[in-house]
Amino acid sequence: MAEQPLVEFDGVIKRFDSFVAVERMDLDIHKGEFLAIMGSSGCGKTTTLRMLAGLEAPSEGEIRLEGIRINDLPTWQRDTPMVWQSLALFPFLNVRENVEFSLKMRGVDAAERRKRAGHWLERMQISEFAERNIAQLSGGQRQRVALARSLVTEPEILLLDEPLSALDAHLKVRMQAVLSDLQRELGITFVYVTHSQSEAFSMADRVVIMSRGVIEQIGAPQEIYRTPRTRFVAEFLGSSNIFAGKVSQTRKGQVAIETPTGRYATAQSDDKPVAVGDSVTFAVSGDRVQLSAKTPKGEFNTLQAKVVGEEFVGATATIYMEAADGTELRAQKSHDELRDLSIKIGGNVFVSWRADAGHILPGE
Ligand code: ATP
Repeated sequence: MAEQPLVEFDGVIKRFDSFVAVERMDLDIHKGEFLAIMGSSGCGKTTTLRMLAGLEAPSEGEIRLEGIRINDLPTWQRDTPMVWQSLALFPFLNVRENVEFSLKMRGVDAAERRKRAGHWLERMQISEFAERNIAQLSGGQRQRVALARSLVTEPEILLLDEPLSALDAHLKVRMQAVLSDLQRELGITFVYVTHSQSEAFSMADRVVIMSRGVIEQIGAPQEIYRTPRTRFVAEFLGSSNIFAGKVSQTRKGQVAIETPTGRYATAQSDDKPVAVGDSVTFAVSGDRVQLSAKTPKGEFNTLQAKVVGEEFVGATATIYMEAADGTELRAQKSHDELRDLSIKIGGNVFVSWRADAGHILPGE
């Protein structure tokens, strides 16, 4: 028998008056996994987390923790601590008192509180600041206090709502390593809301992508990146070229698709095989297209496009292009790959890719 999920969202709907913030959520969260929730602003990520924390009640459906309905269980009776971007530390308590706080609320005696808080202060490397006021700490130190305060009760699940977004880039990467190590060593389930693709994709075992209160896709980071289900997911991740058209032929695991910019061969969909006459949308990841000054030789899908811009991030460049009908295209290339190719803004290039680089979006 499959292991019982730690958390189950079963047909959960959340309305605020007539506004539907979460439309219908079916989601299992497993013991010990690192689950990241991403999506556009206002899509219901925080509301989902708040329902799990007991700060909001579902309007319909059921949330279960270890198989037991918790819809109406008050926050203080469930051990689902939450770490916010603002951290919400108590400014009138010092570091140690902040960390001891929830133990005190649970009636743990002073000696035991001190021992357990001491362990977490040590674990988060903040023992030397134990008697300081919160105002006397740096952003990274506060982050560690917030984590120690949440973990001191040794919960099975920790909810994190954009905990790193207020930190600078360097500190962010350091805290990502701290969080990943903690999660692995403690075996605690992390549910982590973030706007940052790099945070979600570098830390999470699975990523949930939401749009307007609905889950668009759940999967391992690489799976979502390589095989987005819907146009929303492909566009949200921002690295794909997207084409829509009609299937004109199917043959040996490949399909031919007529689009406004040309006829392209693409791998048949494993999820939802398509037939002649079907309207389909397919994506080609920007790191799987080639750019060339001349028409490439061999079995490539090819179209001509005008270079409209380029963006450099670290060792990678994204070249933005536009086909004659206005279709937007992009390619990710290393500096080395670009060196031999003279890319000029306003100039023309051939964009090409192999059929197996095309992925039909099964959710469209
Ligand atoms: P962001 O990324 O901007 O933080 P989010 O995905 O976390 O967004 P939520 O905070 O879950 O979004 O909000 C989802 C929707 O529900 C939003 O449109 C928001 O305005 C609405 N909403 C949230 N809380 C309430 C409330 N208490 N009353 C009315 N509407 C609310």
